[in-house]
Amino acid sequence: MLQLELQLFAVPFRKVSKTRGRKRRTHYKISENQTTTCPKCGATVRPHRVCKECGTYKGKEVIKKEDAA
Ligand SMILES: [Zn+2]
Repeated sequence: MLQLELQLFAVPFRKVSKTRGRKRRTHYKISENQTTTCPKCGATVRPHRVCKECGTYKGKEVIKKEDAA
């Protein structure tokens, strides 16, 4: 006997038009970069990154800076 293996899954009822998809995506926006202040020099830095101004991370020197030494 012929046996068909059917796999049923959710299928969109109809195509989402260009306009409809674009309208939905009008709410997609890029957010501004998060920033924190360096505990050592107080400069604005991105979180979880070494401070560009004094070369420290979590208060410890990571990169040697000639002028700030
Ligand atoms: Zn710093």
